[in-house]
Amino acid sequence: MQKEITHKQLIRENMKRIFEQCPGNRISEKDAICPEVIGVDLFEAPLVGFGSAYDSLFEQYKDEKVIGPWFMTPMKWMPDAKTVISLFFPFTEVVKKSNRNCVDGPSPAWLHGRVEGQNYLATYIRRLQEWFSVQGVKSCVPILDTRYQKVVAGNNMTEYFCVSETTFGCNWSERHAAYVCGLGTFGLSKGLITEKGMAGRFVSIIIDTEIEADARQYSGIYDYCSQCGACVRRCPAGAISAQGKNHNICNEWLKKMGELHAPRYGCGLCQTRVPCESRIPGRK
Ligand code: SF4
Ligand code: SF4
Repeated sequence: MQKEITHKQLIRENMKRIFEQCPGNRISEKDAICPEVIGVDLFEAPLVGFGSAYDSLFEQYKDEKVIGPWFMTPMKWMPDAKTVISLFFPFTEVVKKSNRNCVDGPSPAWLHGRVEGQNYLATYIRRLQEWFSVQGVKSCVPILDTRYQKVVAGNNMTEYFCVSETTFGCNWSERHAAYVCGLGTFGLSKGLITEKGMAGRFVSIIIDTEIEADARQYSGIYDYCSQCGACVRRCPAGAISAQGKNHNICNEWLKKMGELHAPRYGCGLCQTRVPCESRIPGRK
């Protein structure tokens, strides 16, 4: 097959096929923390958005007030980048429901979603990458690339004067890529609110083939957030306020959860039992 037929519909159909066939989306007896989670499916089929690798927003993300100069644009990841594809995998109702009643830490199913779920996404996106390769399409998955790194003051990114002890970030952002690709806008808790809500995980792939970008149905970065403050009240660490989220406080809490639930970790209380959990607030 040649590049000409790798149009949107074909890509979407193959994403669906891979979702149905890719192993790891169900909690196995071997991995299960407790009997209740055996056989629980982690994700629903993904929402998919297409964006242009040339979108000017990617350059804007290099501003230290947005992400920072360490952010790598699609062309930096892959010089012949043409299109960015972002996928949002919503957690299943079982996973979300399990976390709704939690107040001081994540449910067992959520812990699996965060850890085994992330492993599943890596397997999924590798399969997608293999499929693209068979079509003659070159691709790059930032989170699987050896150049992908977190910004940790003192350890790396030392060439950037604006990296401080409190800098928190990576050289690629799944949520910011999803924003470009039309999947949704940010919330006060800094998660991305999609038409299927915020509770789920994102992954993206950059390809060297031009695919028409999806139109963004929003113009402001917080268009879908009602500013209701429910996430502020849900956060057990006090990391969210009317001014937004303090990533360092959240990160400290996640570390604590990691110690309690090793080898798993997670929280996600700000993503469940809130109006933006499974939809855009105010919409059906
Ligand atoms: S809970 Fe309310 S304030 Fe927080 S992100 Fe969701 S819609 Fe926005
Ligand atoms: S901001 Fe962090 S600590 Fe607070 S509820 Fe969300 S994930 Fe948990």
